[in-house]
Amino acid sequence: MNTIVKDVDPLCVDKDIIREAASIILSGGLVAFPTETVYGLGASCDIESAVRDIYAVKCRPTDNPLILHIADASDFFKLTVNTAGYVPLLIEAFCPGPLTLVAKSARKYACGSAGLDTIAIRMPNHPVALELIKQAGAMFAPSANISGGISPTTAAHVLNDLKDRVHCVLNGGACAVGIESTVADVTGDVPRILRPGAVTANDIASVVGACDAFVEPIANNNPFSGGIKYTRYAPKANMRVVTGHPLAAAQAIIRLAHGKNAGVLATAQTMNLYPNSMIVINLGDRDRPEKISANLYKSLRELDAKVDYIFAEGIDEASGGAVMDRLLKAARGSAMPAEEF
Ligand code: AMP
Ligand code: MG
Repeated sequence: MNTIVKDVDPLCVDKDIIREAASIILSGGLVAFPTETVYGLGASCDIESAVRDIYAVKCRPTDNPLILHIADASDFFKLTVNTAGYVPLLIEAFCPGPLTLVAKSARKYACGSAGLDTIAIRMPNHPVALELIKQAGAMFAPSANISGGISPTTAAHVLNDLKDRVHCVLNGGACAVGIESTVADVTGDVPRILRPGAVTANDIASVVGACDAFVEPIANNNPFSGGIKYTRYAPKANMRVVTGHPLAAAQAIIRLAHGKNAGVLATAQTMNLYPNSMIVINLGDRDRPEKISANLYKSLRELDAKVDYIFAEGIDEASGGAVMDRLLKAARGSAMPAEEF
């Protein structure tokens, strides 16, 4: 198929362009679209063949459930049952935004929810995404890339991965957040983070009083959140995270990279410790985790196209652990304390 690419200005959304994209969704096609987190690959939640196509195009295992995207926060209550008393507070505070809530589903989906009786729902905070969902209805939409690879944060990334495999790509520029949404289970008395993201456990606790922090699922078989067991966000290059004090990490990376076709993910604090001869990307200031997350995937993609080895300095918990979580997933868990060198 020939992928149609349409530029859409998020500040002045052309509804005619979105109408074209919505008609593709409503006739069972796939449309990639910008959100504030990463680009999504959308299909109507009511067209089973289209949702199956999402899995096929992404090579995504079918036991990995998708996030349902809505454009009106009140739809959350129509699509779920038995919602905990604190849920309206979360919706008020974080919807639209980079927070996905997992609740008991009010209905069954032929495909997309992996047969679970819960459903993951998010309302994206992006005018292009919201207009598309308004016109086409609720959509299942995972990231618009091949499963297991690096999520796309620009339309060019989507085309690099899925050109001629999707009907349409809406180009709305770079994603502001740059990493996938926080996923929180809200089926219990206290919300629980299943995947860290820009909305942190502290953010949630400050609104509803408590929130259980993210705990890495042990032995890769957390039965509750299917998708979390899969290797995620990984580049082709061999990647390692070096933890510890940033200065010690930089020194260790210089030694580790010696003689290799290697690239480095560094930070503003360490950039000038690296020799000019090395390929080094500055992710940004360690005190601005939102900048680091916005730069992360495009930097990983840039290095992955050039080098065989990627070394990343560990990023501590200022971001609620989301950036470090993605670095470790990209490195398939391969982390080493700088002190070991
Ligand atoms: P993505 O791969 O970015 O589309 O991520 C969707 C994430 O939400 C995956 O980690 C899924 O495992 C998780 N998820 C989706 N639906 C559910 C659900 N019903 N229960 C728990 N986790 C879910
Ligand atoms: Mg994904």
